[in-house]
Amino acid sequence: MTDPLDNDLHLGVIGAGAMGQGIVQVAAAGGISVSLLDARDGAADAGLATVAKRFDRLVEKDRMTAPEAAAAKARAGPVAGLPDLAGCDVIIEAVFENLELKQGIFRDLEGIVRGDCILASNTSSLLIASIARDCADKSRIAGMHFFNPVPLMKLVEIVQSADTSGETVTFLTALALRMTRTPVTVRDAPGFLVNHGGRAYTTEAMRILHERVATPAQIDAVMRDCGHFRMGPLELADLTGMDVNYPVSLFVYNGYDQDPRLKTAFPHRALLEAGRLGRKTGHGNYRYDDSGGKSDDDGGSTAFASPPTNAICLIEPDAALIEFATGLGCEILASDDGACPLVAAPLGEDATSFAVRTGCDAGRLVCVDIHCDSSKRVTVMSPPGILTDRRDAVGALIAAGGRAVTVINDSPGFICQRIRAMVANLGCEMAQIGIAEPEQIDLAMRLGLNYPLGPLELAEHIGLAETVAILTRMQAVTGDDRYRPSLWLKRRAALKLPVYTPG
Ligand code: NAD
Repeated sequence: MTDPLDNDLHLGVIGAGAMGQGIVQVAAAGGISVSLLDARDGAADAGLATVAKRFDRLVEKDRMTAPEAAAAKARAGPVAGLPDLAGCDVIIEAVFENLELKQGIFRDLEGIVRGDCILASNTSSLLIASIARDCADKSRIAGMHFFNPVPLMKLVEIVQSADTSGETVTFLTALALRMTRTPVTVRDAPGFLVNHGGRAYTTEAMRILHERVATPAQIDAVMRDCGHFRMGPLELADLTGMDVNYPVSLFVYNGYDQDPRLKTAFPHRALLEAGRLGRKTGHGNYRYDDSGGKSDDDGGSTAFASPPTNAICLIEPDAALIEFATGLGCEILASDDGACPLVAAPLGEDATSFAVRTGCDAGRLVCVDIHCDSSKRVTVMSPPGILTDRRDAVGALIAAGGRAVTVINDSPGFICQRIRAMVANLGCEMAQIGIAEPEQIDLAMRLGLNYPLGPLELAEHIGLAETVAILTRMQAVTGDDRYRPSLWLKRRAALKLPVYTPG
């Protein structure tokens, strides 16, 4: 096996499409000689021309010197067929996502390359073990899953099947670093790491839509303002497109034998079947105008015509609720006067269960989500049958203080508690089943999906006991095993250990 840092290292890339071009670019920029092969006539030359133009742009933007760009361009060249890759030290395959096609290429390569040549596939969904199924030496075969667009996305998943050797993983990790990527070793399993871990954010939002808890604009505004995600889950789904994210959801769900935690909900399929794919068709969860703006996004905030209440009574107040209520500036009654709004801050419970458990008057119960960031926006919900004047009087009071208010229908965990707990739980489950080391799961999710925190960090941020409480109560309210806490999370919460504790 050649040293991946060797000056003479030679890489073969098969497939000159979007991914192959990106791989050639980062490899050539990293000082690696590359041979590019594509089955389509002229495709390799066209791909290399595109890469050359990108190097020119980098020179224009002062991100590369002209001699560096010239040297990088000179390192990459086209080849006509698989036999031309015989001298390569490592080959990365990036052809169409088709199992038989990839199996055939790997089988053929075995008869062409040296015995110590490392073979990697950029597949995003096929198991490496199935691609390598018919190969004699599976130990040198691994996944090297780059993300699109390759030059901008630093993350690379190095996928290790049961047969992939440690040496192969070490080699590809060093190669990725040489390409200035951030490699993470992941287990060969459905969706690998990022495409698995990314399910919870969108699928729980689809579930919330399905239950008519809130509108897309409300869900997205809450997740941005209260959960600090850069994009809401439904605007994100519109960006990737239902034709991409629905099949991936289904694939991961089926790949894990239909674990209810991974299930999406009917609105997702309904959008796909209606051709409302998202931005690419001008209509998904939102309608898009010609300039790409969302023409029907009302901001997700509720306006109130009624005056603010001048008195409230708190139910099950703790320090956080007392601080929140004090900040509202109205009178806080020591006991229920039988008429004022009753304000509570349930964790994981819906307003109905909270009212029944505490025995308070459900018709006046106004629940606020202060367990996520409520400094810009407060989510408000009440049980069915709420006296809307009491709810709106509380909403008007919060809004008078300069914060946005989002009034939703009753839901265990509001919006933000619910989605964050699902993201955190799935991250913990990935640690439990050994998809990657816990810290690597967080790193990959932050880099691959731009999450503000990795899922395990998020569990730590919410509090492990609180995350378990949210999930357990959601499970109790809905009767749905979708919300069952991961054993990884449950054990560390029970023992009061950090979420990263191995074992
Ligand atoms: P693409 O359609 O842009 O390019 C595929 C290229 O492979 C085409 O140029 C095609 O002519 C070539 N090809 C097909 N059969 C070939 C063969 N037998 N020999 C040589 N070349 C052949 O596809 P892409 O988007 O670059 O994706 C390539 C791989 O990367 C797929 O496995 C995909 O799942 C994976 N991937 C894609 C993305 C993405 O966002 N596009 C992200 C991560 C991984």
